[in-house]
Amino acid sequence: MEQGFIKNEKKVISNRDRLFIISAPSGAGKTTLCKALLSRFADMLYSISYTTRKPRANEQDGVDYYFIPKEEFKEKIKEDKWAEWAEVHGNFYGTSAEFMDKKLSLGHDILLDIDVQGTAQILKRYPDSVTIFIMPPSLDILKKRLESRGADSKDTILKRIKNAEKEMAKKDLYRHLIVNDKLPEAIDQLLSIIKKYRLGMDNKV
Ligand code: ADP
Ligand code: 5GP
Repeated sequence: MEQGFIKNEKKVISNRDRLFIISAPSGAGKTTLCKALLSRFADMLYSISYTTRKPRANEQDGVDYYFIPKEEFKEKIKEDKWAEWAEVHGNFYGTSAEFMDKKLSLGHDILLDIDVQGTAQILKRYPDSVTIFIMPPSLDILKKRLESRGADSKDTILKRIKNAEKEMAKKDLYRHLIVNDKLPEAIDQLLSIIKKYRLGMDNKV
């Protein structure tokens, strides 16, 4: 697993309580939870990541991801265009630095769905980010969810399960932890965390 880097670390800006990062092993339910969150907070912006992964059947370019070729992704690494980037499960994923800086300077709240490597980079650049890690109830259930999603081959699912253990070992990097067992309960927990920050009640946690 290769990790991205940040050339312009000096560009650290304070963004207390405006940047929310959600991470989870693939299949733990973060897309489902992020959608629930965005439907509840209409003014929260979702940072659409760029990826070199092929789109899944139900995914739309410019909605779920910007799907770009590997060459273009690597060019943007050289041009320092990523706020963070990482190689995950053999594909590249990145967050646009221009989008982040522009929207944060305008005072928007932003939601990022990125992996643990990306989170470490974002925390260097935006140290006050609110970080939330979503856990599956067990690895067995995680495997079942990946299978029931029906989007990945057996090989890909195995790769994702292997990576899940590594990602879960990094959960202490995060300020909040949610176990996504019963979906309505996980959604409630997530909404109450975000609400507290947005109301300015919980910014010292
Ligand atoms: P991720 O974005 O983390 O890869 P998804 O949100 O795509 O995960 O969820 C993986 C699969 O598990 C989907 O089919 C989703 O509908 C299902 N799922 C999500 N949360 C739950 C839950 N709490 N209980 C049962 N199934 C769930
Ligand atoms: P998937 O291929 O299942 O959509 O995502 C695989 C993994 O890549 C997930 O852990 C997801 O959070 C992560 N990911 C998605 N976008 C980004 C991004 O822009 N940067 C980083 N570092 N990880 C991302």
